[in-house]
Amino acid sequence: MVKKKKAKKPIARKITYLKYGFVRTECENYHCPRCNHVLNAGPNYQPQYCDQCGQKVSFKGTEWKEEKELGFVERSGEHEQVEDRVV
Ligand SMILES: [Zn+2]
Repeated sequence: MVKKKKAKKPIARKITYLKYGFVRTECENYHCPRCNHVLNAGPNYQPQYCDQCGQKVSFKGTEWKEEKELGFVERSGEHEQVEDRVV
């Protein structure tokens, strides 16, 4: 008899990042409930397993939130923002 592995719900975490280097943008990242590895999931693609530890994950019932732009970062001549992130 094959033991069925139970799918777990991924952990949603709100993050903010700088889009284009100056737009503060809020979005949600999904993490593996077992090893905390970030799952590359979105409305158009949801992995069934964590590619790090193999934990089965289920995105059933997940509400996909759209990115929210919070505003522009003001550049103060001396301190350049280098917190950019490639999505
Ligand atoms: Zn994992």
